[in-house]
Amino acid sequence: MHVRYREEPSICGVLFISNRVIEVGFFNLDGRCRNHCLKSASIDAQFTKPNLGSCTNRDPMNSTAATPLPLQTDRSQDLVFLETFGCQMNVLDSELVIGQLNALGYGFTDNWRDANVILFNTCSVREHAEDKVYSRLGRVAQQKKAEEDRTIVLGVIGCMAERDGKDMIRRYPQVDILCGPGELDKLPMLIDNAMKTNCKSAIAIQGNTSRRSSTLAAAEDQLELLDLSRSFNPDIRAGVDRFSSYVRVTRGCNKFCTYCVVPFTRGAEMHRPPEHILDECKRLADAGVKEITLLGQTVNHYRYEHDHATLIDSIAQPQKGRSYQGGHERDPFEGDRVTTFANLLYRVHEEIPALERIRFVTSFPRDFGNDVLEVIRDCPRICRYIHVPAQSGSNRMLDMMNRGYTVEEYRDFVERIREFIPEAQIAGDMIVGFPTETDAEFDLTVDLLKWCKYKNCFVFKYSARPGTTAYDKIPDDIPDDVKKYRNNILLAAQAEISNSIHAGFIGQTLDVFVEGISSLEARTQTKSKPHEHNAVGLTVGGKDIRVVSQSPRTMEVINTNPAVPSTSPTAVATASGSGFVQMSGRTSGDLITVFDMPAAAADAMIGRIVPIEIHKNAALTLFGRYRG
Ligand code: SF4
Repeated sequence: MHVRYREEPSICGVLFISNRVIEVGFFNLDGRCRNHCLKSASIDAQFTKPNLGSCTNRDPMNSTAATPLPLQTDRSQDLVFLETFGCQMNVLDSELVIGQLNALGYGFTDNWRDANVILFNTCSVREHAEDKVYSRLGRVAQQKKAEEDRTIVLGVIGCMAERDGKDMIRRYPQVDILCGPGELDKLPMLIDNAMKTNCKSAIAIQGNTSRRSSTLAAAEDQLELLDLSRSFNPDIRAGVDRFSSYVRVTRGCNKFCTYCVVPFTRGAEMHRPPEHILDECKRLADAGVKEITLLGQTVNHYRYEHDHATLIDSIAQPQKGRSYQGGHERDPFEGDRVTTFANLLYRVHEEIPALERIRFVTSFPRDFGNDVLEVIRDCPRICRYIHVPAQSGSNRMLDMMNRGYTVEEYRDFVERIREFIPEAQIAGDMIVGFPTETDAEFDLTVDLLKWCKYKNCFVFKYSARPGTTAYDKIPDDIPDDVKKYRNNILLAAQAEISNSIHAGFIGQTLDVFVEGISSLEARTQTKSKPHEHNAVGLTVGGKDIRVVSQSPRTMEVINTNPAVPSTSPTAVATASGSGFVQMSGRTSGDLITVFDMPAAAADAMIGRIVPIEIHKNAALTLFGRYRG
């Protein structure tokens, strides 16, 4: 049996899973070891050093001392409720978690009051999202108190667990599990043990390994196994609708923008081996997926150096990213020695013809090579859509944000996109009210937004996030009413641009990838719908969305359980009595398009690319007729 240990000498709760040792400390709230050893650990310390050498019950250096504790594989009586906040990375993480729990036999419910396991996959990027999670925790905490006789495991996973776990447990001792994004491969074991031990007033703790060394990260990258689980068995890819799927290209981020917590919560940028990514895409395509979205915090910086690959049991491991910093010039090492993002994109396109659409998010404006633009131009199934946040039109602001590029460089990039792929749609992000931003600097942001002609732009009012450099070092000195004012100005400017871009398509027939019924249709129908078991209560930003949404992709979520298909158009039409349903899909340029279909034909439309003639538009939506 192959057994590896982390380098720390002692820890509680050593468990065997798949011939690997997983380390987890189980402590009571007072910091005392749950295995009843005499020593205790402070909660503070547990978060930074999970295995303080404080437990004398078990010495992991003596593997025979550890008692194997297998995962229970039939949990059919146990129901999981999972709510997801945040970006596509979190959506993908939730999909993988659900796949794991599905494989262990857990059932799912979209009603948290029925669940034995309540999980919140959290986001720390916005204060608002965090507030929502705390509000949820308060409600579940009350429920746990009211139902003391029933085991209810409450888990917080994702960025808040990593960033704010200590404070969270002080405020809500009912939280049983914390699991950061870098430890999600261990979540089933954490839940399983919490269930087995009926873990009232106990915590299963994961250490913060978010920025561990590259060697250690590569050597212990069991997260890769989590991603690869879909390659072994794509049918467990719960959370994916039948036709679209996310595939991770990189994890983490090395950019350290001063306002952003991601480099601390998701850790160092790790690049997955290209063969793993391709294999996962192929397996998903074999399982019927038609559209893949490649995910990375700065996806275009993907770069795998084959000369430096670490092999464990002959399997290449993800490696810490050493991004190429050659501007838009071609990477001189690409080829046998290095797989660049352009190489990867090209291979996905060429080697997997069953994929009808290939997308990628999110791009970083610096060092976005012309080679990537050439690949998009030359490969028709790669979508004509680039989401590339600018964040500000002021060089001083960009410098304070540590973005690493100038406005001039950003404009140059947008010009190159227009030159190589004139039909491409571009989406942006802007932050208003960053500390010390003057009116004149804000005006530069408005100018840049207008010049870029984004098809849509995500505008954020700056809010200082604990754990970021800006929070620690730059006073948040812009009054909220000024932020609101600037936010509204920018949104109004963007609405005008979006409207004019969308209006330009009236009269044209566009190829639309049909995703499901529209969110409007879904909202109407789900209001009166009772909660279902064996459905996953997956919501984003607090909105209960169990069908494809019309909201922007960064806040989109889809039905998450393969056992329960997205709301059926037939069922919707039957319920409405009209015989017609409003379907929703996207163009290659990511323009949301809705159209009515007779319900009898609508089911068969999902997952197909169909011609839609556009006859009307709103700022963010095209309305059309099916021209099949
Ligand atoms: S590039 Fe900047 S904003 Fe994006 S995830 Fe990395 S640190 Fe955060």
